[in-house]
Amino acid sequence: MSNYRFKALEIAQNRYAKPVTPPAERVADFYGVNTFNKETMRALLSPEAYLRITEAIDTGGKIDRDIADEVANAMKSWAVSRGATHYTHWFQPLTGSTAEKHDAFFDLTMDGKAIEKFKGGALVQQEPDASSFPNGGLRNTFEARGYTGWDPSSPAFLMDNGAGGKTLCIPSVFISYTGEALDYKTPLLKSLSALDKAATAVCQYFDRNIDKVTATLGAEQEYFVIDKALFYARPDLVMAGRTVFGHSPARGQQLEDHYFGSIPPRVNAFMVDYEFEALKLGIPVRTRHNEVAPGQFEVAPTFEEVNLAVDHNALLMDLMERVAERHDFKVLFHEKPFAGINGSGKHNNWSMGTNTGVNLLGPSTKPKETLRFITFLVNVIKAVHDHADLLRASIASAGNEHRLGANEAPPAIMSVFLGETLTKALEDLETKNEIALNKGDNVYYKLGLNRIPSLIRDNTDRNRTSPFAFTGNKFEFRAVGGAANSSSTMIVLNTIVAAQLQQFKADLDVRLNNGEKKELAIVDILKQYYKGCKRILFEGNGYSDEWVEEAARRGLSNINSTPEALKVYLNSESLDVFQRVGVMGHTEVHSRYEIELEKYVKKVQIEARVMGDLAINHVVSTAVKYQAKLAETAKNLVDLGMVTEAEPVKDILREISTRVAVIKKNVEEMIEARKRANNKADTAEMARLYATEVIGYFDGIRYEVDKLEQIVDDEDWPLVKYREMLFVK
Ligand code: ADP
Ligand code: MG
Repeated sequence: MSNYRFKALEIAQNRYAKPVTPPAERVADFYGVNTFNKETMRALLSPEAYLRITEAIDTGGKIDRDIADEVANAMKSWAVSRGATHYTHWFQPLTGSTAEKHDAFFDLTMDGKAIEKFKGGALVQQEPDASSFPNGGLRNTFEARGYTGWDPSSPAFLMDNGAGGKTLCIPSVFISYTGEALDYKTPLLKSLSALDKAATAVCQYFDRNIDKVTATLGAEQEYFVIDKALFYARPDLVMAGRTVFGHSPARGQQLEDHYFGSIPPRVNAFMVDYEFEALKLGIPVRTRHNEVAPGQFEVAPTFEEVNLAVDHNALLMDLMERVAERHDFKVLFHEKPFAGINGSGKHNNWSMGTNTGVNLLGPSTKPKETLRFITFLVNVIKAVHDHADLLRASIASAGNEHRLGANEAPPAIMSVFLGETLTKALEDLETKNEIALNKGDNVYYKLGLNRIPSLIRDNTDRNRTSPFAFTGNKFEFRAVGGAANSSSTMIVLNTIVAAQLQQFKADLDVRLNNGEKKELAIVDILKQYYKGCKRILFEGNGYSDEWVEEAARRGLSNINSTPEALKVYLNSESLDVFQRVGVMGHTEVHSRYEIELEKYVKKVQIEARVMGDLAINHVVSTAVKYQAKLAETAKNLVDLGMVTEAEPVKDILREISTRVAVIKKNVEEMIEARKRANNKADTAEMARLYATEVIGYFDGIRYEVDKLEQIVDDEDWPLVKYREMLFVK
């Protein structure tokens, strides 16, 4: 029965790199041509409208109806002249960046409305059918209606809709009839504005010229690329985005040769192609390289303002999937598509910059600026310490569970890496008690703060195992999942840092009102903070067993299970911090929690079904057929009088029988466990059962299937093997 697997392999092996032509000679000639950016607006709008809209972009001001009409008109002319036939509000519902997300993004063209009639009202607000998007119970409380609203701070852009025409996409927020956020962008924008206010207020102690702080994000995206034919020959990849079976190849990533190797020509063509498309959309993609695992790669853009960077990452992921089609590839963003091989993360490089051009997490050579730097540094560390569990919740998903706390992955412990120099600087801050007695700027010298800058670069970024690492002039949150929407994490990070900076300002004001000297008061507060949060600092190997034990001794959480991690959203501290900072009300947080749980349940449910189907229909049936061949052989040997020689063959027969029996039993039990879970009315209880009882069968079933893969004749094995998916290019 030469099977689908071999046909797929043949197709894959006969493909060659497709030529890609650059849109123009220099990137500057096509960068952002598919976006309605400031430059285009300046050319097409009246000076007044241009001024008002740029103001709205920079300071978040309101846009009047007449200005909106003018912008809509200009946007329409611009889009139509470039081949657009439709327009749509482009938003990020809480489904996340999975296959469903993309339907949601792009299926929302306004039926029947010709683009020529595009008015300011349509630009500013739309009313899609909200009932098709998750709302985590908000639907029960409120009407199913929802609105999308234009976000002028992220440029509208043109997308090829594949059928010859283009669609004008207008980045938007998505809220319920009663104003609750149903998307990622709404709370993200609120968190950014809260952080701006809180950080600016703190900056004022150091520099009166600072009146705006912008959070920045550079999201390094890891992904796998596999041939399309091979992808479709793996029902688990198609259905669940990851392989539920597959024996590790003889040559995995032990040699790390892929990391240093050159990019395979077909993949390179794909990369060049999507990079051109990304640059046309104003996405500043910069670096491309191989990752550690075979078949794994990374793309990194230059950092941007967080809201823009998040939109660009979501758009880039979508773009990559589209362009991959042209090269007969499938892109996998799943956090762990292949067991035993590195997973994919999305490293969120985060910092804050001022209107005066200062990176608040960038060290300086001037002592006074160093104190400002240390102030922001310590406040971020304290925020992460105080809300470590909330940060952990922000990255919780079924896929990321495999990267955090599963067998081979780093533990789900939140810790902060600083590097030797900074750790020493903070230790000095804590231990040098004479500080309080010193006057004036001596403070810097006493603490050695004047020595920090030159050394920082050399001492950071050495530790690749830290989930939250200081890397010279920014923090890099590495525990974010490859398939995640970065907003989830950015909302939490901005919120907790904003809350912490508010606290710092309050603490400092009390002391200043008591007549304390500013610098000394700041140092003293930071000292207290540092004492209270230093247990979160860890410089060692974050993947080691010793760290798990050490973290437990320090009282740091290590929450492995997604449903457990998500529960933290409902803690009174979490609800309180979102509310206090003005990012989300209690109902909104509750609805988000519900949605994340539901997503988790659905993902695990699908995996369990795929696993059961493949195990019985593909694996067991193949194994049993192979047994028939073996039985025939054994019988022939016995007929020939070769009784002893028949024994090893019978051994294989027995082994297969045993393994098949175990698989059958486990699959049946898993189905029962699933039924029990599905019967629960309470989503949290359902999720708990999936996380424990249902998932509890996964490893056992997989173990037997992977053993059978090694026994059954390669000719008969129906599923494309790891070595074929990962190495055939
Ligand atoms: P490397 O880690 O290889 O030294 P970089 O430090 O230049 O490379 O950057 C890694 C990512 O961090 C890139 O996406 C980059 O744009 C981003 N990044 C650099 N500086 C900042 C910053 N101030 N804020 C946010 N992201 C930043
Ligand atoms: Mg990095």
